[in-house]
Amino acid sequence: EKQERLDKLLSNLGYGARNDVRHWIKAGWISVAGEPATSPAQKVYASEVRLEDEPLDHPDGLTIIYHKPLGTVCSRKENGRLIYEDFPARWIDRKPPLSPVGRLDKETTGLLIVTDDGMLNHRLTSPKQHISKTYAVTLAEPLNGGEVALFAAGTLLLDNDDRPCMPAELVVHSATEVSLTLHEGRYHQVRRMFAATGNHVVTLERSHIGQLSLLATALQAGEFKVTTADALMELI
Ligand code: URA
Repeated sequence: EKQERLDKLLSNLGYGARNDVRHWIKAGWISVAGEPATSPAQKVYASEVRLEDEPLDHPDGLTIIYHKPLGTVCSRKENGRLIYEDFPARWIDRKPPLSPVGRLDKETTGLLIVTDDGMLNHRLTSPKQHISKTYAVTLAEPLNGGEVALFAAGTLLLDNDDRPCMPAELVVHSATEVSLTLHEGRYHQVRRMFAATGNHVVTLERSHIGQLSLLATALQAGEFKVTTADALMELI
C-alpha cells in the first residue's frame, strides 16, 4: 500500500472534490490512524482513513459481480437508466473508471462484471482466454431443428461480419427455450444468430460467465457484490 495525499485519494475514489475534503477535515469527519485529519495535503494510507467512522472503498481493483436488470444501459451513449445508478453514487467519479466487462443490451438481463481493472477486463473478454458466456434465451418461434448443428459448425456468417461465428453450443430445453454458450462476444450476437435462422429473441439473460452462474450468486436483479480480481477468477 502506498501513501497518497488525503484530498487526492478521496477525490479519486469519488467521495468529493478536494475542496469538500477541506471542509470535512474542519468538520472533524475524517480520521487517519485514529487521529483527526489535519490537512488535505497529509500523506495517508487509504486503509487507515475513516470518513464518518466508515472505512473507504478499496483504492484500486474494484470489481463487482452484478445482476443487470431489464432496461438498464451499460454506456452513457445509449438512452436509458445507467447501470451505475445501482451502485453507490461516488463510484461513477472513481479514477481509474469502472467499466462493464463486455456490454449487455438494454433488453438483456443477467451476470455482468464491472471493474476498474483493465487486465481483468481483457482476460474475461478476449476469445484467446477461452472464457465462455452462456445465455438463457426464449424465442418467439419454435426452433426449426437445424440450429444446434448450424451454430456448432462455426460457419454461420452474420450480416456485416467478415468472419463466421466461432462454434457455439446450443442446448434445447423446449421448442422456444434454449441455452446458448458463446466463446466470443460480438455486437448483439445472440439476437443476430437467431435472426439468421428466421427467429426472434424475446428474452435474453446471461446465466453464466465461465463456471460462475447467476443462480449461485443469489443476486436479485439490480443487486451487486464487491469482490476482487483474484477471488472472481477462482469462481470463473
Ligand atoms: N448477445 C446479444 O444479442 N445481446 C447481449 O446483450 C449479449 C449477447
